[in-house]
Amino acid sequence: MAEHENLVSSTQIIIKDALDKLGFDEGMYELVKEPMRLLTVRIPVRMDDGTVKTFTGYRAQHNDAVGPTKGGVRFHPDVDEDEVKALSMWMTLKCGIVDLPYGGGKGGIVCDPRQMSIHEVERLSRGYVRAISQIVGPTKDIPAPDVFTNSQIMAWMMDEYSKMDEFNSPGFITGKPIVLGGSQGRDRSTALGVVIAIEEAAKRRGKMIKDSRVVIQGFGNAGSFLAKFLYDAGAKVIAISDAHGALHDPDGLDIDYLLDRRDSFGTVTNLFEDTISNKELFELDCDILVPAAISNQITEENAYDIKAEIVVEAANGPTTMEATKILTERGILLVPDVLASAGGVTVSYFEWVQNNQGYYWTEEEVNEKLREKLVKAFDNIYTLAETRQVDMRLAAYIVGIKRTAEAARYRGWA
Ligand code: GLU
Repeated sequence: MAEHENLVSSTQIIIKDALDKLGFDEGMYELVKEPMRLLTVRIPVRMDDGTVKTFTGYRAQHNDAVGPTKGGVRFHPDVDEDEVKALSMWMTLKCGIVDLPYGGGKGGIVCDPRQMSIHEVERLSRGYVRAISQIVGPTKDIPAPDVFTNSQIMAWMMDEYSKMDEFNSPGFITGKPIVLGGSQGRDRSTALGVVIAIEEAAKRRGKMIKDSRVVIQGFGNAGSFLAKFLYDAGAKVIAISDAHGALHDPDGLDIDYLLDRRDSFGTVTNLFEDTISNKELFELDCDILVPAAISNQITEENAYDIKAEIVVEAANGPTTMEATKILTERGILLVPDVLASAGGVTVSYFEWVQNNQGYYWTEEEVNEKLREKLVKAFDNIYTLAETRQVDMRLAAYIVGIKRTAEAARYRGWA
């Protein structure tokens, strides 16, 4: 099986299940089982040594019945068509769950920015925008950061689009630097959303964040801000990891020290000798486990070894369908990615609104609005899961797909 094929096929199975529960027919499933648009582009880039290298990029737009599509762009060597397709479908679900007037989109470029110079990354970012320019725009499809892309890359992309558009277009992309129309709080919004999801989940299990033992896989944008939030809230972050390995201290790691030493891609464990493997990380005795890295991490192979009582998915697609079943049967509360990681796109929406109205909010206002949306979404999904006796992932899919399906039906698409 291609590396990410299971992401699409398992998403399709759960979407089908959700549509059945909502009473939609086969025609609706046919419409939403795949992105409506998938563009593959080849991007020639002049490298620093004078040669030209051609990269492959994608932009998938799952469904725009509700409004323009929205979602990040990732730069990673493992990007492929299936991954981008699945990610765009999850964006539709996230936007439905937190009630944003968008459908889902996602983009990616097959590359390794860790091996490229900053100038090469800039030329690649600009080339990607030129290549996808026909199908994106502030009222069509609005990109944002994702794995290994950041506010600087958003700035270059916005600049390139604005040049083509011939006027300043901050609403073309979100996750920008504040001076270019970025929103207060956007950089930490995914992590704050995860914290809110953890708080809500802990409450349901009669627990508190303070003094709980947390394991976080990943130390990128979401993982590092999350570790800091939890550490400041009095939790013991007993392990964190990056692509090279994991650091573990049963008494709690010094997160401020690690943040100081991490590089811009979230790598830190290479500075230490005493590390454990990612496999061992998942088996650690803890209260809360947060996969905040890449997909397919909790599988039927390790789902029985997980000791946490609560698993909150900060990454996209970290738990396979089989593992979801095992964790649920074991009584572990699993908060799905489409809910727990929706904080980023929520504040992206706030950023776009601020760009459209040209009036900017304080970080307090942003965070308050974010909290309101996420607490409500969590409550809806948790209650639905309880009343329908389904796991939280299926409940989240039911809430997430409902609005797109209704909008598509009104439009006469299915
Ligand atoms: N890439 C993020 C996600 O997967 C954010 C998307 C956005 O802000 O549009 O949710």
